[in-house]
Amino acid sequence: MGVDEGAVRRLVLTEIAKQGDRFVPVGVSARHVHLTQHDLEALFGAGYQLTPIKPISQPGQFASQEQVAIIGPKGRIDKVRVLGPVRPETQIEISVSDSFVLGAKNCPIRLSGDLDGTPGVTIEGPKGSITISKGLIVAARHLHMNDEQAKAYGIHDGQVVSLRVGGARPCTMEGVICRTGAKHELEVHIDTDEANACGLKTGDLMELVQERPQERSHECKGTCLTGECTCGNQSPKKAEPEEAQIPEDEILDLVTERDLNEAFRDNKTAVYCEKKALITPAAADRSNETGIKIIRIGGKE
Ligand SMILES: [Zn+2]
Repeated sequence: MGVDEGAVRRLVLTEIAKQGDRFVPVGVSARHVHLTQHDLEALFGAGYQLTPIKPISQPGQFASQEQVAIIGPKGRIDKVRVLGPVRPETQIEISVSDSFVLGAKNCPIRLSGDLDGTPGVTIEGPKGSITISKGLIVAARHLHMNDEQAKAYGIHDGQVVSLRVGGARPCTMEGVICRTGAKHELEVHIDTDEANACGLKTGDLMELVQERPQERSHECKGTCLTGECTCGNQSPKKAEPEEAQIPEDEILDLVTERDLNEAFRDNKTAVYCEKKALITPAAADRSNETGIKIIRIGGKE
């Protein structure tokens, strides 16, 4: 085996990012399955272990030799690759095109592991088949980075960024969710539909185009948050306005993930809603991830 070209490339890209040019390599995810040990044995036989054939970019994960068929109300797709290692929950990641083949109506776009309310599907292996009640998703586009890479790119976990590609099908992909930490390596994951829509293949580069948050100068004691700082380096995070200053149309009666994403993009520190407003679980999660507060405003009945 020679040098790990992917690793060298990631190192070079990380160094370039420190200079201000931020490019990320693309990994196109073909449809695949993650299985629990229990489901693996139901499909391949008691005591079965996955056979790794190729490591994938994310640390510890691998493509296995095993393949299964997935069967929906309208059709089946054969030879779907199983990725390892086994996981606590079985999850099938397909493209929107695949969902049409299966007849899986309204298959939701989700981050890995967010399976509540997703459709079920039948999985067929050489030694048996199972029908799971949930776990079929179209994976939400996301960008993996380890902590060092995240620092070089000026990205934090949960941040939503935009990526641009030129070529014959130029495109800016918005809403790319960043996942950072030790178990991640620099790569943006999109599915085959998204890749084909903008002429991308694994190994191509996309440019991160979201503005880097301005860094505070070292003399600044943080008073720029209140606009009193003379460091000339206005923080992108503004102080929260007094209740009375909040325009009525910014007080929501329903808070969704999208509201949090927009607030994040606009560098807001909080979103405001009515006292009895509905806050979706996804919005609450995004609030935790981004640190953007959801503040209920009293007095509006
Ligand atoms: Zn991924």
